[in-house]
Amino acid sequence: MPGYELFGAQERKEVNDVLETGILMRYGFDGPRKGIWKAKELEQEICNTFGSGYAQLVSSGTAALTTAMAALGIGAGDEIIMPTFTFVASFEAVLSVGAIPVPVDIDETLTLDPEAVERAITPKTKAIMPVHMCGSMAQMDELKAICEKYKLFLLEDACQAIGATYKGKRLGTIGDAGTFSLDFVKIITCAEGGAVLTNNKEIFEKCDQYSDHGHDHMGKDRGADLHPYLGYNYRISELHAAVGLAQVRRLGEFLAIQRRNHDIVYNTLKNVEGLTFRVIPDPAGNTGSFLSFFLPTEEMAREAVAEMGATGIGGNFYWYDNNWHYIRKWQHLQSGSWMNKFYEEQKKQVLHYANQAFPASDAIISRCISSLTSLLWTEEQAQERADRMAAILTRVIAKAATTA
Ligand SMILES: *Cc1c(COP(=O)(O)O)cnc(C)c1O
Repeated sequence: MPGYELFGAQERKEVNDVLETGILMRYGFDGPRKGIWKAKELEQEICNTFGSGYAQLVSSGTAALTTAMAALGIGAGDEIIMPTFTFVASFEAVLSVGAIPVPVDIDETLTLDPEAVERAITPKTKAIMPVHMCGSMAQMDELKAICEKYKLFLLEDACQAIGATYKGKRLGTIGDAGTFSLDFVKIITCAEGGAVLTNNKEIFEKCDQYSDHGHDHMGKDRGADLHPYLGYNYRISELHAAVGLAQVRRLGEFLAIQRRNHDIVYNTLKNVEGLTFRVIPDPAGNTGSFLSFFLPTEEMAREAVAEMGATGIGGNFYWYDNNWHYIRKWQHLQSGSWMNKFYEEQKKQVLHYANQAFPASDAIISRCISSLTSLLWTEEQAQERADRMAAILTRVIAKAATTA
């Protein structure tokens, strides 16, 4: 997944353009910046690369989710359906606008189970937020149909799936809005940054204003800008945007290496008897940033992951025990351990929804291992890793069969 692995001359050149002028801010200073507008250029590049009508850069993927929700008018008392397997940013952003995160089961796509989504809809539901985890995609046709049926917003979290497609469309451009993260471990990075993508001009304009204190950006003088709405400061800096610009131009290069290395590992592991793989709704659109697979039982998954770790095969994630990606370990959310005061209804509903049992998700995640794809492996190294993984997985599964 990580674009930081190939940081190099292109990134340095873009940053140096900014350092030459010393104008580190994305707005204003029209004279001294000598025509260098990295954030604007990156927004245009994102629109061109992903086929999005509009793009608003912000300071992080979390800020992108918050900004998108504000622009969609999501707020107090609204319920937002999100998956049990995601990153904590999903519920952080929902809470930041005063809304209520409603976690819902995933299926073997490792993304929202459309049937579970439909069961979770109440008169307070305002949006469905699929999270395209680990470089692959949610079942967008099914989710879109549900949104149309119940008149809900579709907000795509594509933070981990930059460059992935679903039926020919880039993830992040299918819903009412979509978000990217450019944090340091994403498919492309700018150290810290994010973007909201949308084809709706009004949503875009609200994102533009919300992320810069409400500035309408209509005039030449920032001090004279009007502020039709309240906003906050989620601006990106020119230095960050410069790195992002170099990286987005290299996305095709990164994806080609990633898919090659992913396929080498997949083509070996698919011969391991008893191993099954994540369901990918549109395999042609997968970025290959992870290869996710399931062992027959939790015990076998634990044994395999421990043995791979002990023998120096890095980058295998066991999400069931992870503090950041799976609901089982979100005790801070489940116990109401928040610093600022919530309003009564929010407190009650957040605790109610966060403390439900999710046996269907548990049964999937407890058997799942995700193997990260590195951009630095040669084909030989990818094959060697695959062979070592296959040997361990085969032995763990066979041993369980003989002791059963
Ligand atoms: C990384 C990530 C985010 C948040 O991005 P930041 O830029 O780190 O704030 C949101 N959602 C998912 C699924 C992510 O992986």
